[in-house]
Amino acid sequence: MWGIIATWRMALEGIEEAEKILIQDGKASQAIETAIRNVEDFPYYKSVGYGGLPNEAMEVELDAAYMDGDTLDIGAIGAIKDFANPISIAKRLSKEKVNNMLVGYGAEKFAYDEGFESKNMLTDRAKIHYHNRQQEILQQQIKPYDGHDTVGMVCLDNDGKMTAATSTSGLFMKKQGRIGDSPISGSGFYVDSKVGGATATGLGEDLMKGCISYEIVRLMKEGKNPQQACEIAVNQLDKELKERRGEAGDISVVAMNNKGEWGAATNISGFSFVVATDTQEPIVYLTKNINGQCIHEKASEEWLNEYMQERMKPIIKK
Ligand code: ASP
Repeated sequence: MWGIIATWRMALEGIEEAEKILIQDGKASQAIETAIRNVEDFPYYKSVGYGGLPNEAMEVELDAAYMDGDTLDIGAIGAIKDFANPISIAKRLSKEKVNNMLVGYGAEKFAYDEGFESKNMLTDRAKIHYHNRQQEILQQQIKPYDGHDTVGMVCLDNDGKMTAATSTSGLFMKKQGRIGDSPISGSGFYVDSKVGGATATGLGEDLMKGCISYEIVRLMKEGKNPQQACEIAVNQLDKELKERRGEAGDISVVAMNNKGEWGAATNISGFSFVVATDTQEPIVYLTKNINGQCIHEKASEEWLNEYMQERMKPIIKK
């Protein structure tokens, strides 16, 4: 039995690659890294890897993490610049006994010393997005924090091993050195092969307030199925944040248990995710939260076509 689940439609091509590996008895470690690298390498996804949107100083600073659900090894990097595949650096760090989480210059030095591919991750397209957003902010005072979307995945292989991983450019126009939930264990991701795993996307500052990925795994350990665990965790955090702070940021999650059962939940409209298992080809779903219950609908051909057209349409400098 195998399965893999990921946040956002952008994971589809990566999940298709992972499927080829998992079908042939490949390992969850290799499948998840391959899938995330695929998303990192695609220049038109503006929230992960190459082509990711920059911080307020027009630098692309990337966060990523990898976790092994058998050993509980974790590797994570924060605010790294100029490396092609943050996920592979995070995975490499997970093999260390100490120094598992490195940020900024230290992460870059480690990646350089270990021979990872360096690359200028700022594309001309991302520069235009940056310029246009600056104009919009000047003219309309809009909040700069749109244009995020982390790719997060949980994977189960035929040996029963589970892994989790994330990769992101974080929030568009973030401050230099800002790190979100994605490389933070328990917030952006968590996995335990004895139970299952979860990963989150949305406003990192709020996701961290609920350690939401760990909370989902904890709920599954208590006996909840992944769908129940995701809904409880999202609804609870959303409620607590609104009660205590007057508002809640975007919260979206996906989870899979060690039986290949899966779930997803969100407090926004328009959250998409991708799942493939040994009994289900890769499918993109859209989910809606209706009074606390999340309903998943298979994305239509029309939605899928529009998605790609929108991502790849020419952009004009304002
Ligand atoms: N959670 C990410 C962050 O705060 C962004 C996202 O998932 O959209 O950096």
